Amino acid sequence: MRLIFSHGDIWALRLLRPSTYEIGGSLHVGENGRISRIDYKQGTSCRNTHGKLIAGAICSVTHPRTPTVFHTHPKANRPSSGDLRNAVQGENTHVLVTPSGIWCYRASPQLVSEWRQMSETQRRRQKLEWRFVGHHHQNDTQSGITAPFIAFCKQRGFFIEYRPYVEMTDALKTWTIMMGPEKKINA
Ligand SMILES: [Zn+2]
Repeated sequence: MRLIFSHGDIWALRLLRPSTYEIGGSLHVGENGRISRIDYKQGTSCRNTHGKLIAGAICSVTHPRTPTVFHTHPKANRPSSGDLRNAVQGENTHVLVTPSGIWCYRASPQLVSEWRQMSETQRRRQKLEWRFVGHHHQNDTQSGITAPFIAFCKQRGFFIEYRPYVEMTDALKTWTIMMGPEKKINA
């Protein structure tokens, strides 16, 4: 599938992103790839105003599963292992709005079919590996070095793209993100 972000979409998503809790919901995407509507819910508070995790709180938000979903991160600049798991399980496209940029990711048809055949234990192990490698790349992704983490996710069967805000400042431009071969997925 194809997603086209206008400069206004980017600004709206950036402005929507709270720094003390997550929000998440649906992006309604037209045939042309443009976002026509955003519906979202608010997660519970998980960080204080200084950005510190609140003891016992978990940063998450629950929302309906639709073909294109989005959520925000108060601090982490990459998808978590739970986020990747949700994309495989949901078989849908995910947009993640972080402090430094926008991520889009989706499991390839091959990864989806592998996941369907896995036992619960295998799925847990798979998620643990994503978690381990994600933490390994955490310092890099927090400072905007995303290529090694992206390469790992692609190698594991995800379509995944990242666009930092600093590359999306031209008000007259749009940014097109392809999640895999368009025809196969939309067919
Ligand atoms: Zn997340």
